[in-house]
Amino acid sequence: MTPRRIELLGVPVDCVTMAQSVDFVEERVASGEGCAAVVAVNPEKIMRARVDPSLLESLRRASLLIPDGIGAVWGARLLANAEIGRVPGAELMPAICDRAAETGFSVFLFGAQEEVNAKAAEILPTRFPGLRIAGRRNGYVDADAMLGLIDEINQSGADVLFIALGSPRQEEWIDRYIGSLRVKAVQGVGGTFDVIAGRVQRAPAVFRRLNLEWFYRLLREPKRLWRQRVLLFFALAIIAERLKPKTD
Ligand code: UDP
Repeated sequence: MTPRRIELLGVPVDCVTMAQSVDFVEERVASGEGCAAVVAVNPEKIMRARVDPSLLESLRRASLLIPDGIGAVWGARLLANAEIGRVPGAELMPAICDRAAETGFSVFLFGAQEEVNAKAAEILPTRFPGLRIAGRRNGYVDADAMLGLIDEINQSGADVLFIALGSPRQEEWIDRYIGSLRVKAVQGVGGTFDVIAGRVQRAPAVFRRLNLEWFYRLLREPKRLWRQRVLLFFALAIIAERLKPKTD
């Protein structure tokens, strides 16, 4: 499957559904091609990539760029007339684990604090019986121990690597080490291990259904307002782009 790739404010994003994204990973595991990078695109990342050429390049090199939040979906609809829905990274990871348990491929968990990582490795197989965790490592690894970790991931025989270092750290890591990885796919999952381990809670279903997860987070942590101002800049940039006269 080659999804349609569009650009939002110069940053690429793929028009894919959740089901297509899981199929994509399963196909890559089966095909034995090189390692595919699955990276989430959201307004924060788009705005950062506009001023960070190396992040933009690493996004361009990714195999699958999922529309992680409602902002990316809304932008895609408005600017590219693209009929897409949200593929939150935090939901794609469990969906991949579900498929892995069903078809027998294995996963490696890299990232987050030690107790979070250990707890996620313990919980996932109870949630997805049959899931094989090929290995795990917390996300606080010294730079000079990184090649040893790559070796460990490769030796584990894992098919899929989930990496939870936060953004843009995890994108930089993927870009730097993908050539040395023998896993078939790697997904950057941000704070998802914290959610699985129960350390961080996602918004209640009603907020998620109404695409208001960002608003719920704002209510819980008003200090995020400063961080979330980027959403306003993103919305204004999308509207400005939409109002620009078309040259073709
Ligand atoms: N993290 C890590 N190593 C680091 C920095 C962060 O493993 O050197 C982990 C952190 O423990 C958390 C995850 O990265 O589990 C996401 O961090 P954060 O919430 O800062 O990132 P975001 O999801 O906001 O991009």
